[in-house]
Amino acid sequence: MALGTEEQKQRWLPGIASGETIIAIGMTEPSGGSDLAGLKSTAVRADDGSGDWIINGSKTFITNGHQCDLAIVAVRTDPTKGAKGISLFVLEAGTAGFTKGTKLDKVGQTESDTAELFFDNVRVPDTHLLGEEGRGFIAMMQHLPQERIGAAVSNTAHAAQILRETIEYTKERKAFGQAIGSFQHNKFLMAELVTKIEVTQAFVDACVTLHSEGELTPTDAAKAKWWSSDIQGEVLDACVQLHGGYGFMNEYRVARAWRDARVTRIWAGSNEIMKELIGRELGL
Ligand SMILES: Cc1cc2nc3c(=O)[nH]c(=O)nc-3n(C[C@H](O)[C@H](O)[C@H](O)COP(=O)(O)OP(=O)(O)OC[C@H]3O[C@@H](n4cnc5c(N)ncnc54)[C@H](O)[C@@H]3O)c2cc1C
Repeated sequence: MALGTEEQKQRWLPGIASGETIIAIGMTEPSGGSDLAGLKSTAVRADDGSGDWIINGSKTFITNGHQCDLAIVAVRTDPTKGAKGISLFVLEAGTAGFTKGTKLDKVGQTESDTAELFFDNVRVPDTHLLGEEGRGFIAMMQHLPQERIGAAVSNTAHAAQILRETIEYTKERKAFGQAIGSFQHNKFLMAELVTKIEVTQAFVDACVTLHSEGELTPTDAAKAKWWSSDIQGEVLDACVQLHGGYGFMNEYRVARAWRDARVTRIWAGSNEIMKELIGRELGL
């Protein structure tokens, strides 16, 4: 919506909006995801004067990668310039040379589709360039805060829901003749976790309000992303513990939530990269 030409919007957005077109964003490569400016996949102009581009390389860990109809991919259009040599292209499934790997076998979120993408001399017309040539990295930096605040909302909601269910569980489950939640250690633990969730929620809500006003800074989005995923990890780990052995059984929601949450400290920019962004803003 932000980068497309009118022709691109007419062509692709209706299917995306209706849900008929599944899209993916391919940034991460097997050689690395944190150092986005170091990506290696390339797009070069065809030497036949057509203006077409020839794309080569690969991507990995791509959400919706296996089932996507369209993939927005970040590739290098100028090998002499680091971040300023990166551009975005829209690839349509079925284009010759564009192949998808099988669904990757993940620790959690096993229902979701995460796959590799391969580009072997994929030829696309110039009309598949999304945004300006050489400004792909800047575009990603401008739009990734939205992904990060989305991640923060879901991190907080998941943790809050499982904590609510765990509090109920600890009222029912008995040991030594009393509810396990009534032991002071557990009561204080849950008091702390509820407080942490509510404080996190307040910051995330403030970020959502800022985002809806177009005012969310990349630094605040980074803070919300790393903090909420760390808190989620802490809360869910404690919730597993409070469930005892049942917490380690797949039939219990808490077990699945704990497995599913682990990746949130890694994806959407790892928590270390979030702290790197915040540190840079501090002039460090
Ligand atoms: C389930 C899943 C879905 C994903 N979906 C997508 C997707 O749709 N599209 C997409 O493009 N990517 C996607 N990713 C990729 C994800 O964004 C990357 O895994 C992530 O950015 C980290 O990159 P990496 O795996 O290459 O780790 P690396 O970059 O190799 O990093 C390894 C470790 O080193 C740390 N590290 C790296 N640099 C520094 C530094 N400067 N200071 C301190 N520590 C550092 C990292 O924080 C990490 O802990 C997905 C990943 C997963 C697991």
